[in-house]
Amino acid sequence: MKEQLLKLIKLQELDLQIRKINKELETEPEAIKALRKELKEVKEDLATAKAELEEREKVKRDAELELQDCEERIKKSKQKMTEVKTNKEYQALLTEIDELQSLKSEWEDKIIVAMDEIEEAKKIVEEKEKIVKELEQRLKEAQQRLEQSFAHFKKELAQLRQKREEMVKTMDKELLKRYDFIRSRRNGIAVAAVNAEVCEGCNMHIPPQKYNELLKGDKLMTCPTCQRIIYWKGILENNGQTEEE
Ligand SMILES: [Zn+2]
Repeated sequence: MKEQLLKLIKLQELDLQIRKINKELETEPEAIKALRKELKEVKEDLATAKAELEEREKVKRDAELELQDCEERIKKSKQKMTEVKTNKEYQALLTEIDELQSLKSEWEDKIIVAMDEIEEAKKIVEEKEKIVKELEQRLKEAQQRLEQSFAHFKKELAQLRQKREEMVKTMDKELLKRYDFIRSRRNGIAVAAVNAEVCEGCNMHIPPQKYNELLKGDKLMTCPTCQRIIYWKGILENNGQTEEE
């Protein structure tokens, strides 16, 4: 019985290791998640910056058209000057040209402001593009590292499964069934150590009489509270439980 129990303890250890690795393989590391999130945010910033740049360029184009229009009107007014017959008409044209000139310089100012704003917007776009590139590179590297560690995990997992398979061959079939049954109902843990009269599976006390029986270690016992197969922690000390590893 003791031999079977020791194997059971070992099997439980293996199954927990297998479960842990499976979990590692299933979950995306926080670092990668964070990078992905950061990249998404910067890409959104970049899109906003590009839209802003386009908007500024449109403002500049519109102002250029207005300026062109002003210039043509000034030209026409100046041509009219040669055809005027009265002083009144002449004065009216002068006023018109004056107004057009000041309008023209207003549009020129607007173009200059727009050009400055375009410069600023371009800088922001370039900056964001640079950050996007950097983050993409970092994400790529992190994913490559992850792949490498996955390869390592997968190898380890295959070894553990192999070990488990071999071990199970030498074990009592009924006992294994019971082990799997308890495991499926007790969060993957079917075998629990008892330390100083307390079951480590459920943290409840084992009655003294039962504990004394357990110390002998000559029969298979279960925790009266959680129904897990229990063993006295001290038996591992004399049996070199982890020697194989
Ligand atoms: Zn228990």
